[in-house]
Amino acid sequence: MENRFLLFLSIMLFISCSENETVNPKNIILMIGDGMGLSQISAAYYQSNDELCFSEFEDIGFIKTHSASSIITDSAAGATAFSTGKKTYNGAINMDTDTLPLKCITYDFIDKNIKTGIITTSSVTHATPGCFYGNNKDRWTADEELALQFINSNINLLIGGGQKFFKNRSDNRNLIDSLEQKGYHFISSVNDQIPENTDKLIALCAPKHPKSISQGRGNFLSQSIELALKTLKNERGFFMVVEGAQIDWGGHDNDSDYIISELLDFDKSIKAALNFAKNNNETLIIVTADHETGGYGITGKNDKTNKLITGFLNDDHTATMVPVFSYGPGSSNFKGIFDNTEIYHKIKELIK
Ligand SMILES: [Zn+2]
Repeated sequence: MENRFLLFLSIMLFISCSENETVNPKNIILMIGDGMGLSQISAAYYQSNDELCFSEFEDIGFIKTHSASSIITDSAAGATAFSTGKKTYNGAINMDTDTLPLKCITYDFIDKNIKTGIITTSSVTHATPGCFYGNNKDRWTADEELALQFINSNINLLIGGGQKFFKNRSDNRNLIDSLEQKGYHFISSVNDQIPENTDKLIALCAPKHPKSISQGRGNFLSQSIELALKTLKNERGFFMVVEGAQIDWGGHDNDSDYIISELLDFDKSIKAALNFAKNNNETLIIVTADHETGGYGITGKNDKTNKLITGFLNDDHTATMVPVFSYGPGSSNFKGIFDNTEIYHKIKELIK
C-alpha cells in the first residue's frame, strides 16, 4: 500500500514538473540578427577573446528562410514570415502574395493588453522593424508611409534611426508632434533622461540609420534594451523585438570586420536580455536571423596578424538555413528544423 502511495506521489510530482516546463512565458523577446548565418557567428567566436552569449542557449534549432517568390528571401519577406506566419514575395511588408494586408503578431499582444516595443540599429522604418507594426506593398518606397502608420499602432516603444521620416517629410507633417499628442515621450539619444513611469517612448537617434560600431555607435543597442526593459516591464508582461540590422550590411559590403564588430555588439545586447531573463524565470528569449548574407565563409587564420581568412560567394542574401537559439519558458518548442513561419505559430501557441 505504501509503495503504491509513493508511486502515486512520484507520478504527481512528474506531472507537475512537466507542467512547469511548459508554463507560458510572461515576457517574450524576439531578437533578429539580420543576415546572421552560422559563419557570421563562428567568425565572432574565433575572433573574440571572451565566450559569447550564444553558448548560454541550450535549445537550438534551424529555420528554412525561402520566401514565396524566391529561394533567397529579403528582409521584408523574412520578417513578414516571423510577424504573420505567412511566406510572401520579396519586398512585402506584411502583405500576402495577393498584396492584401496581413495582421502582424504585435497587435495580438496589444489586443491582450500586453505592452510592446521595437528596437533596431537601422531606421525604424526599415523592412525588419516595419514588419512589426506596418503594412506596405513595397519596402523600398515605404519609409514615410510606415512612419505614419506607427502613429496609430499603440506600440509602447520604438527605438532606432529614421527621424527624417517623422520630421522632414514630403507632406510637411511633423509626426513627432502627433506622437507627443498621443502621449509618447520623444528623445533623440538613448542617453537622454526619461521621466519616471514613462509608458510610451519613441527614440529616433539618427536622421536615417544609426552609425555602425566602427563609426562610433557605442553601446546604443544594449542601452536601448535597458531602456526598453525599464519602460515595458509590468505585471501583464511584454513583447519586444530587437534587430541587429547591420550584420547584414557587413555581408552586403563583403566586409568581414564589419560583420564581426556588429555580431559582437549584437552578442552584448543578447547579454542584456539574458541578464534580465535570468532574474525572473518568466521571460522567453528567441534569437534568430532572417537569412544569411554574403555566402560568408572562413577558410583559415593568419598566424601573424591573428585575423581570420574569409571569403564571400556574393554580395547578397543566400538560402542557407539560419540558427534559432531560445532560452526560458517555452524554449524547447523552438528546437528542430522548421520553416521561418513557424516562429510566428510557436509564439502564438505560447500566448493563447
Ligand atoms: Zn540584406
